[in-house]
Amino acid sequence: MADKKAIVIFGATGDLAQKMIYPSLYFLESEGHLPPDLMIAGFARTHADDQGFIAQTRKDVMDNAGTLFSEDVWSRLAARMHYCEGDVTVPKTYAPLVKLLEGVTVCVYYLSTSPNFFATIACQLKEAGLAHGGARIAVEKPIGRDLVSCREIESALDETFGDDRVYRIDHYLGKETVQNLIALRFANTLFEPLWNRASVDHVQITVAETIGVERRWSYYDSYGALRDIVQNHLLQLLCLIAMEPPSDLDPDSVRNEKVKVLRSLRPIGAGDVERQTVRGQYRKGVSEGVAVPGYTEETGGSASDTETFVALAAHIDNWRWSGVPFYLRTGKRLAARTTEVVVQFREVPHYIFPRSDMIANRLTIRLQPEEEISLQIMNKAPTLEAMRLKPLALDLNLSDAFKKQRRRIAYERLLTEALKGNSFLFVRRDEVEMAWKWIDDIIDGWKEKDMKPLPYSAGSWGPSSAFALTERNGHSWYE
Ligand code: NAD
Repeated sequence: MADKKAIVIFGATGDLAQKMIYPSLYFLESEGHLPPDLMIAGFARTHADDQGFIAQTRKDVMDNAGTLFSEDVWSRLAARMHYCEGDVTVPKTYAPLVKLLEGVTVCVYYLSTSPNFFATIACQLKEAGLAHGGARIAVEKPIGRDLVSCREIESALDETFGDDRVYRIDHYLGKETVQNLIALRFANTLFEPLWNRASVDHVQITVAETIGVERRWSYYDSYGALRDIVQNHLLQLLCLIAMEPPSDLDPDSVRNEKVKVLRSLRPIGAGDVERQTVRGQYRKGVSEGVAVPGYTEETGGSASDTETFVALAAHIDNWRWSGVPFYLRTGKRLAARTTEVVVQFREVPHYIFPRSDMIANRLTIRLQPEEEISLQIMNKAPTLEAMRLKPLALDLNLSDAFKKQRRRIAYERLLTEALKGNSFLFVRRDEVEMAWKWIDDIIDGWKEKDMKPLPYSAGSWGPSSAFALTERNGHSWYE
């Protein structure tokens, strides 16, 4: 008999579920990628019945899908959908879920809630008999807010589901361009011989947002930019850029290599934070032509020492990367929305052209707003003058190259893999813990040195100290 499958979304009425998870399920339905008998159950505290929840979700999916919305697809998706109202901390609210999941043999529980609930939900599912052998649990980042709380959650997940059935989500790993980093490095012979300290001068990784914290103030204020973005997304990008070639694409082969990078990250403690890190917090300013309030004046905001910007100079102590700075930067209300990795190659060893014309090669891998890869190379400018040079970019625009393809939501791929039981795109426990260890040192250093966030105007590129961080080594951020 075929397996009866289900996905249960905890926090189903929340921002993430409504903006990303249900739209992803809609697109998977539209392309026939959902298993035919898949049931989709939502669980949240919001008061609603099946019909009310489905009507609300339809609006959010419509907004997301725009012209790609089809009533036919929606009615197929809606026919799979159910809603359970309840408080995850109250055991009796799991009873309707138990009934709904009768006969289900393969189930993914997707925890789109605060990490404070992860351990409770896992334990309640186990108590209710829902953590059977065919059940997997997927948890959103951040897993905890430091190493200690992360380990508490991990222990609960391990005791209830077992580590091999825990899927830790970092949605960056579901992005096409992030997966493409592996293809770019290991499916081409061009880059790998240059991918080391002999040819690479430094690396920059930026995740910049123009939006502020908006209605997520209270959540954000207890995390800040370092925990919210650097601990997960930025460190995952750094690992994929810096790791050694895995022997194959087995999930553990890739994750073993990523963990080695995290182990080689030089700790940044109290003695280094002032030189190697910058904290910032936005003040009022103009963002994309609109006057916007400062962080502490946002709805629900109050006086706070939480950083909305962080820049770091990291070092990887191994043979490949010794002496190559990896600059990491993220922030809210910055001058542009962009996520990109820049690999800056070294200058030529000897100049036969005018030195002032020369710009060293640079590889830019952009994830947002567009997915593109660009290699800047030097060319002769077509002038009457003797040899004058100009840098030109060899551009690979992925949306142009794959025109017929819709840009997928990262969660589409992650949901598909979780349903199949393939852990390749998910983060392993030791990766999360190593990352927290590195982050905790920085946070302890900030506390010890009483390093408060420096102000920056909304719409700028962060505090001026962020520029000094790179200029100190003769480098500058690419904007
Ligand atoms: P949210 O506040 O919008 O939604 C929270 C959901 O949890 C709601 O459905 C709410 O009803 C439910 N909930 C809260 N307390 C509950 C309880 N006691 N019992 C049952 N349900 C309860 O939050 P969000 O923005 O959707 O984020 C969810 C998680 O995902 C957070 O940990 C966040 O850090 C993480 N995350 C969010 C985003 C995003 O884009 N919003 C991106 C990545 C990760």
